[in-house]
Amino acid sequence: MNPANSLVAPLAKRLEGNVALITGGASGIGEATARLFAKHGAKVIVADVQDDLGHSLCKDINGSEEIVSFIHCDVTKESDVQNAVDSAISKHGKLDIMFNNAGIGGNMESRILASDNDDFKRVLDVNLFGAFLGAKHAARVMIPEKKGSILFTSSVASVISGEIPHAYTASKHAVVGLANNLCVELGQYGIRVNCISPFGVATPMLRKGMGMMEKKKVEEVVAGVANLKEVVLEPEDIAEAALYLGRDESKYVSGINLVVDGGYSKTNPLLAMKMKSLFS
Ligand code: NAD
Repeated sequence: MNPANSLVAPLAKRLEGNVALITGGASGIGEATARLFAKHGAKVIVADVQDDLGHSLCKDINGSEEIVSFIHCDVTKESDVQNAVDSAISKHGKLDIMFNNAGIGGNMESRILASDNDDFKRVLDVNLFGAFLGAKHAARVMIPEKKGSILFTSSVASVISGEIPHAYTASKHAVVGLANNLCVELGQYGIRVNCISPFGVATPMLRKGMGMMEKKKVEEVVAGVANLKEVVLEPEDIAEAALYLGRDESKYVSGINLVVDGGYSKTNPLLAMKMKSLFS
């Protein structure tokens, strides 16, 4: 029996023998996922544009063994993405999990008439085209193996409207569309394709979007508007979702958008405020 499937698996290494590539893996959600995957026995390749951060993450995780390695990769450049995927094959002989997670928030200006065209293109380039390139090159090496798990970090912005700038919202809706289409195309090869859509997590990206606000303050602001109270959404919670979708526990799960938002997208804050004001 595969030790990863034994009764003690939840406490043991659940990704033993797996190879994962994580774009945007040097910081925030990607970093937390690299740490969790490594803890569960996966060999991890962190692909990011932040070289110093990526190298220091590897140093921090690796002991005597090389578990996590860093590769410089701008997801908007096909040669970089191709190289990152090929490095998984040359180092470890395969790629089991491709986590297309790199992303940027773009300008926080949300009115269309004040929106900047270059910013719109840049956000789509990183968040959508970068994810497309990651999936394309992962599929290239996964199709012949007839297995693999392709994940994308979308966002709660893929299921709510009107609260987040147009470029970011459009990019994250498109990522879900891409994942759905790929799920249909790649199912015949045993490849699963899923999205994870987080609510606000106090990572450098969100802190930047909130004017470089302190992490604690960002958490307070997010908690203030959250539906689910008494808990704080952390990068590690999204990493746990990636662990589930990456591993065989989810072997028949494909084409889902796992929304990790504590129920926020089920709420209707404006209507709730109006009703409260009518009856208070
Ligand atoms: P983060 O800034 O901590 O991490 C993003 C990483 O992506 C960084 O390390 C950055 O260097 C990397 N990156 C940016 N452009 C890149 C490029 N061209 N090529 C390669 N790497 C690049 O932010 P995060 O919150 O961890 O973001 C991870 C993902 O989660 C993003 O796709 C983001 O849109 C999504 N997300 C975040 C939140 C949130 O509240 N933090 C909510 C929903 C979705």
